[in-house]
Amino acid sequence: MKNQNDLSSPIQYVKGVGPQRARLLARLGIKTVRDALFYLPYRYEDRSAIKKIALLCPEEIQTVQGKIIKTDVVTPTNKRPRLKIFEAVITDGSGALKAKWFNQVYLKNVFKTGQQVVLYGTVKVNYWGSGFEIVNPEYEILDDNDDEESNPSALSPQPSASCIHTGRIVPIYRLTEGLSQKNLRGIMYAVAGNSTPAVSDFIPQEIIKEYGLPDIQESLRNIHFPYSSSSLNDLNSGTSPYHRRLSFDEIFTMQLGLAAIKKRETTEKGISFSPGGKLINRLLAKLPFKLTAAQERVFNDIINDMRSPAPMNRLIQGDVGCGKTIVALMSMLTAVECGYQAALMAPTEILAEQHYLNMHRLVEDLGLKIHLLTGSKKNKEAGMIASGDADIVIGTHALIQEGVSFKKLGLIVIDEQHRFGVMQRATLRKKGTNPDTLIMTATPIPRTLALTLYGDLDYSVIDELPPNRNPVITRLFYEKNKSRIYALMEEEIKKGRQAYVVYPLIEESEKTDLKSAITGAEALQKMFPNFKIGLIHGRMKPAEREDVMREFKEGGIHILVSTTVIEVGVDVPNAAVMVIIHAERFGLSQLHQLRGRVGRGSGQSYCILLSYGGSDDARKRLDVMVETTDGFRIAEEDLSIRGPGEFFGTRQSGMPDLKVANLLRDVKILEIARKEAFALIERDAALSGYPELRKAMGDFWGERLEMFKTA
Ligand code: ADP
Ligand code: MG
Repeated sequence: MKNQNDLSSPIQYVKGVGPQRARLLARLGIKTVRDALFYLPYRYEDRSAIKKIALLCPEEIQTVQGKIIKTDVVTPTNKRPRLKIFEAVITDGSGALKAKWFNQVYLKNVFKTGQQVVLYGTVKVNYWGSGFEIVNPEYEILDDNDDEESNPSALSPQPSASCIHTGRIVPIYRLTEGLSQKNLRGIMYAVAGNSTPAVSDFIPQEIIKEYGLPDIQESLRNIHFPYSSSSLNDLNSGTSPYHRRLSFDEIFTMQLGLAAIKKRETTEKGISFSPGGKLINRLLAKLPFKLTAAQERVFNDIINDMRSPAPMNRLIQGDVGCGKTIVALMSMLTAVECGYQAALMAPTEILAEQHYLNMHRLVEDLGLKIHLLTGSKKNKEAGMIASGDADIVIGTHALIQEGVSFKKLGLIVIDEQHRFGVMQRATLRKKGTNPDTLIMTATPIPRTLALTLYGDLDYSVIDELPPNRNPVITRLFYEKNKSRIYALMEEEIKKGRQAYVVYPLIEESEKTDLKSAITGAEALQKMFPNFKIGLIHGRMKPAEREDVMREFKEGGIHILVSTTVIEVGVDVPNAAVMVIIHAERFGLSQLHQLRGRVGRGSGQSYCILLSYGGSDDARKRLDVMVETTDGFRIAEEDLSIRGPGEFFGTRQSGMPDLKVANLLRDVKILEIARKEAFALIERDAALSGYPELRKAMGDFWGERLEMFKTA
C-alpha cells in the first residue's frame, strides 16, 4: 500500500476501501487514515474461547471452529414460502453442528465444503431436540486466506493473528448503512496493522516516564485488536491501560489549551479598582438580612480580584437560593463606585426583568441609574448606555448585539452561565477593555470537573444557604390523585402563601404547550373562583410580563401559572408551593431549578411533581427529586443519567467534544493531566520546545482557542 506512513492520506487508498466505501466511511467522519485510527470500537465481544461442539450449552453465545462437511439451501414448505435458509454443517471431531442463516442465499458462494471456519453466535437446541444448531452466526473462513501481506507482523504478538472477526476479542464499531461490521473491521485491521508506526508521540517523555504511560502505537493497536489476555470489562468500560493512555492524551491537550488561555489572561492588563466601599456599606445597611459567612468569603475573593491589575475571571458556584444575586450586586456597585459601568447578562428576558425588579429600587436609592436592556426594549435604552448615563445595565444577550456600546464598562456579570457559550462571553467582554468578569452558576458540579469545564477561570463556592430555610418537601403524584394537589394548594393559599403551577415547554410545539398553560389557568380559575390566577409565558410582551411578576411579588396573584419561563432565578419568598405538570418531561437540573423557586422564605414549602408516566430515566429523575434537595447530589445523578457530554452542554459552552475520555470516569487522569499541563505552560507558555504538542493542541481546539485568545 502506498503512503501507508502518511496518516493524512485519504482512506480511499487503504486496501479494501475504494471510492464507494470511502463515501460510506466519510459519513462516520473517517476521511483519512488518521481518522480511522482514532475511530474507536464502542464495545468488544470475547470470541476467543473456542468450544468443542460436544461441550456446547444451549441459549448461550459461543464460538466454535470446525470443517464444513455439507452445505444446502432449504425452503421450509409449511408456513413461509418465501423464506430461504442457507445451512452448513461443521464438525470438529467432537461432534457436528448445523449453522443456519435466514435469507442469505448468497452464502452458498461463500462457504465450500472442506473449509475451516469459525462461527460465533447463539447456540440453540434444534427442532427435534436431538442436537444443537447455531443461528445467524458471525463467521470467518480460516483457510481462505490468500492474502499474506494483510497479516502484518506489526500486529504480533497476537495469539491468532489470522483471526479478525472470531476466535479473539473482537472490536465492534458503530456503522452506517451499507457498511457491515465485517467490512469496517477488515479496514480497521489493515489500518491498525500498517499505519500505527506513523503515529508519533506528542506527550513529553518526562510525563510518559513519570506516569508509566503505555506506548501510543501499542495502545492504538490494542484498542482496535486487543491482546487476548485483556480484560473484557476494562475494554468495554474504556478503562484498559490503552484506553487510559488515549484519554490522557486527549485530556492533557484540552488542559493545555485552558492553561494557555489562563496564562494569557493573567498577563493581560485589566482594571485595578480601588474601592472605598461606601456604596456597599450603604447597601448592606438597607438589607433586611446579614450576609452569610460564605457570601462574605466569596465577595472577598471578588474584591481581591478587582483590586488586582489582572482581569478577573471568576466563577461563582452556589446552589439555588444561596444568594448569588446580592454578591453580584455588591460587585457591580464596587465597579460603579470607581467610575465604571457594570453589566449583568441573564439567559432569559424574564430573568433579566426579575433582576431588574429586584435591584432597581436598591440601586436607585443609592442615587444611581440602572437600565434594563432586552430584545424588545433595546432601542430606547441603547443610547443611554453608550452615553454613560446608565451605571448598571441588566440585560439578555441583547447586550452583546452590535450597536450596543458602553462608555466605560468595567465589570460584567454573567448569570446562569451554562446557558451562554464561550463566544457570547467573549463578545460581551469586548464591549469594554479587559473588563473584570464574574460568572455565576447554580449547577453544582464537583470541583475537578468545574475546573475542567471552566478551567480558565478562578473558582469560588457559596456553600451555605441563608439561615432559617426549611428544606422543601417534595411529593410525586400521578394523574389519578390530582385532586390532592389542589387541596394542598388551597390550604397553603388560605394561610397567605402563594403557588406556582408550571407547564412544560417542548420546543417543537410551543403553541400547544402555551395552550395547555392557558387551559390550565382557566381550569384553576373555575376551581378557585375566589383566588386570583395569573398567567405568564414567553410570548407575552415584556411590559405585560413585568406587570404580572410585580403583582405576584406583591401578593396580588395567588397562583401563577406559567410555562418554563420562570425556571431560573425568579425570587418570590412568599411562594410556598411549586406544582410541576408533566414533571416527567423535565430534566433533573431543570426540576431542581424550578424547586428552587420555593423555600426561599421561612415556613414550610412544597414541590409537587405531577407525572403522567414516562421512561425509566424519567422515573429515576423524579425519585431523585423526592429523595434529596442536595443540589450537589442532584448534579451527580444528573451527570450519571445523562452522561457528561449532554450534562455539560459542551457544545453550547464552546468546549471541544471529548472522543475518548469521559470526565466523570476519568477524574484521576484529569487531575494528573491538569497538573502537568498547567506546569508545562508555566515553564514554556508558547510550547516552543514542543512543536508536536503545540500542533496537537491546535488540532484539538481548532478555532476555539483563537476565540478564547481574543476573549
Ligand atoms: P440564587 O443564588 O439562587 O440566585 P438569590 O440571590 O435569588 O439566590 O437569593 C435567594 C433569596 O435569598 C433571595 O430572596 C435573597 O434576598 C435571599 N438572601 C440572600 N442572601 C441572604 C442572607 N444572607 N440572608 C437571608 N436571606 C438572603
Ligand atoms: Mg440567581
